[in-house]
Amino acid sequence: MRLRNVTGSREMIAGSRFVVHDPAAQKGKWHEVFGNDHPIHIEIGMGKGRFMMDLAAANPGIDYVGIEKYSTVLLRAVQKMEMQELANLRLVRMEAEELCEVFDRGEIAKIYLNFSDPWPKDRHAKRRLPSRQFLARYHEILAADGRIEFKTDNADLFDFALEEIGPAGWKLEAVTRDLHHDAQMLPGNIMTEYEEKFSSLGNPIYKYIIYR
Ligand code: SAH
Repeated sequence: MRLRNVTGSREMIAGSRFVVHDPAAQKGKWHEVFGNDHPIHIEIGMGKGRFMMDLAAANPGIDYVGIEKYSTVLLRAVQKMEMQELANLRLVRMEAEELCEVFDRGEIAKIYLNFSDPWPKDRHAKRRLPSRQFLARYHEILAADGRIEFKTDNADLFDFALEEIGPAGWKLEAVTRDLHHDAQMLPGNIMTEYEEKFSSLGNPIYKYIIYR
């Protein structure tokens, strides 16, 4: 997702108190950012941040970190936070490739991946966020009993993601190919911006939860 004509987004982000500006300096001490010892959940590729904000508002006993690679996109989340301040949500502009430099072993209790970029070319498979290369990074930062929750409307990406689980040493806890009509997995579902858009076009939403 790239937004054009957002001038000075880096500067506006640099001035925001909702953004953690030197995330690598927090490695191993993310609890200090929030001033409590609540579990920390992250979304990688947060986009404009609605999912993180809704979750943070609904779960004051959990701390959230929303990660997004583009400052133009992150700025949208920053602007929303200015309208609705949430003590248990912080935002970070970084690339998922750097996760292990930013979070310590087992520091994270849950990882959300929502509508990740599909990278359809075979030679780009390792850039897909549910790839075995990324699962190896998540293994480092996720607590032993931690979970990854992944949603997408992209059937090819979902099939790929399912195939990566076993070889990467993870296990499937739950799966659906039509989340919005799944009586078991739908309750409590919080929609993302992309989920709203693609489900309104009639696309089924796929979801898995994995652990190891
Ligand atoms: N999760 C949101 C946005 C989905 S679009 C939603 O469901 O509505 C995917 C987002 O992930 C884009 O904003 C893109 O910039 C971001 N992204 C893609 N690759 C990334 C990476 N390697 N690290 C961090 N963010 C990434």
